[in-house]
Amino acid sequence: MKIIMLGAPGAGKGTQAKKIAEKYGIPHISTGDIFRANIKNGTELGKKAKTFMDQGLLVPDELTCDLVVDRIQQPDAARGYVLDGFPRTIPQAECLKDALDKLGSRIDYAIDVDVPDENIVNRMGGRRACLKCGATYHIVYAAPKQEGICDSCGEALVLRDDDKPETVQKRLNVYHEQTQPLIDYYNGQNVLRTVDGTQDLEDVFKQIVQILGE
Ligand code: ADP
Ligand code: ADP
Ligand code: ZN
Repeated sequence: MKIIMLGAPGAGKGTQAKKIAEKYGIPHISTGDIFRANIKNGTELGKKAKTFMDQGLLVPDELTCDLVVDRIQQPDAARGYVLDGFPRTIPQAECLKDALDKLGSRIDYAIDVDVPDENIVNRMGGRRACLKCGATYHIVYAAPKQEGICDSCGEALVLRDDDKPETVQKRLNVYHEQTQPLIDYYNGQNVLRTVDGTQDLEDVFKQIVQILGE
C-alpha cells in the first residue's frame, strides 16, 4: 500500500502517518524528519535545508526529490510506505510519478487531512517535538506521560523554531500557494480521499481505516 499524506502544516499528517505505519506494517517516511536528522548530524544537506526551514520556506525541489526516490527503493519499502510531507509541490509530485512509472508502480491513496487555518495556529503552538526519534506531542491534545519528556526515548521535548507563531503564518501561506494545488492533482488521478482532520486523533484515524480497510 503506497500512501501520501496531504494537508496543511500541523493538520496531523505525522500523527496519522505513524498510526498507519504501525497498523499496516509499512515505513513512515517524513521528509521533515529526514531534514531535521541531517541538521542534527551537521551534514551538508542539513546545512542547506536549515536556511530554508528556519524561514518557513520549502527546501528546493532538487534537494528533496532524489532523497525520497532513493528512500522508497529501500528493501523495507517494498510492500509500501506512507509519505508524510512529500510531495509538497507539483514538480515534486511529477518527479515522484516519473520515478514510480519507471519502477512500474503507483500511489494507491493520497489522504488529505483537512483542517482550517484557524485550528492550525492552536495546534502548532502546542506541538512539542522529539528531535531524537521524531515523536510528536501536543501539550493539551496529546500530552506525553511526563511533561517535556519523550515517551518513546526519554529525550527532552522542544518547540520547533519553525513552530513559533510568526513562522507558522508564513508556512500556511506557502502551503496554500505551493502545496494545496496537489489536492486537485491527485483528485485528477482518482486517488484523493479527504478526512475531517478537526476530529480528535482517534476519530481521524477511524476515518482513515475506513478508506484503507481493516
Ligand atoms: P509539518 O509536519 O509541520 O508540515 P515538516 O516536518 O513536514 O512540517 O516540514 C518542516 C519543514 O521542512 C518545512 O517547512 C520545509 O521547510 C521542509 N520540508 C519538509 N518536507 C519538504 C518537502 N517535501 N519539500 C520542501 N521542503 C520540505
Ligand atoms: P503535521 O505532521 O501535519 O504537521 P502533526 O501530526 O505534527 O501535524 O500534528 C500537529 C500538532 O497537532 C501536534 O502537536 C499533534 O500532537 C496535534 N494533533 C494532531 N492531530 C490532532 C487532532 N486530531 N486533534 C488535536 N491535536 C492534534
Ligand atoms: Zn523521542
